Amino acid sequence: MNYRPIVFISAIALSLAGAAIAQQQEPDWDAIQVAAIPIKPGIAVITGNGGNIGVSYGEDGTIIVDDQFAPLTEKIQATIAGLGATPVRYLVNTHWHFDHAGGNENFGKAGALIVAQNNVRTRLAAGGLVAGNTSPPAPKAALPVVTYDRGLTFHLNGDTIDVFHTGGGHTDGDSVIYWRKANVLHTGDMMMNGAGFPFIDLSSGGNALNLVRSLDQAIAITNADTVIIPGHGPLARKDDLIAWRGMIATSIDRVKGLKEAGRSLEDAKAAKPLAGLSNNPNGFVAEDAFVESIWRSLEAQRT
Ligand SMILES: [Zn+2]
Repeated sequence: MNYRPIVFISAIALSLAGAAIAQQQEPDWDAIQVAAIPIKPGIAVITGNGGNIGVSYGEDGTIIVDDQFAPLTEKIQATIAGLGATPVRYLVNTHWHFDHAGGNENFGKAGALIVAQNNVRTRLAAGGLVAGNTSPPAPKAALPVVTYDRGLTFHLNGDTIDVFHTGGGHTDGDSVIYWRKANVLHTGDMMMNGAGFPFIDLSSGGNALNLVRSLDQAIAITNADTVIIPGHGPLARKDDLIAWRGMIATSIDRVKGLKEAGRSLEDAKAAKPLAGLSNNPNGFVAEDAFVESIWRSLEAQRT
């Protein structure tokens, strides 16, 4: 599994923590290897740099979930062809972030029909700042052509593929994709496997409390045999998803306790309430940044 995405998201963590944003290095796109890992017949995950791409192919055509960065499109297309699949017919964006939807324009121009939740299209069209990284307004060819509020279903390649917006959490446009027959779930960045703490993109409508609710919905449709494609990191299982959800819920409880006790945000950070909860001390998001994300999420959801 390629962990280059950490380079990008570490910068996000730093900016969230209020520290100086690390000088971001442009990846050496030529050196990045794009590869497919088979999951089930006709279904694979493609790794390179950026979010994991889910691909499903067969007699009815090829559908992909997310598309990483524009400079990688040709390699991704070649990898898809290497599976014996036809060019991409449908493209679903799990959310609007540049490391998941950066190839939209290329795939759109190549003939793929782009599908996403309403908020994904709105945010791509407007552009914006994602934790220190400016995404300019996307050109028309990069925008979803079909959008939905709650979800839609594809009937392709002998499977029924549900795309549904759970209410978000990482952003306000998150969708998960579930292949009913193959029993494969793509979570987008609502799960970042082995990443330590989650990234809550508050400026894109993310909210830690919503994330837990969304993860509950994702957990409810899985069983012990489900293969989970996380937004980043290696393939996962239901137990991993439950553990990820539990870590987030516990983190919220601890920060909420400090907040309700009248502590300030700075006091809450200094108390290091999330000690021992991260599964990756070098993870994407620093503890203080996650504490602040939870704090802001609680403020946003004040009843
Ligand atoms: Zn993301």
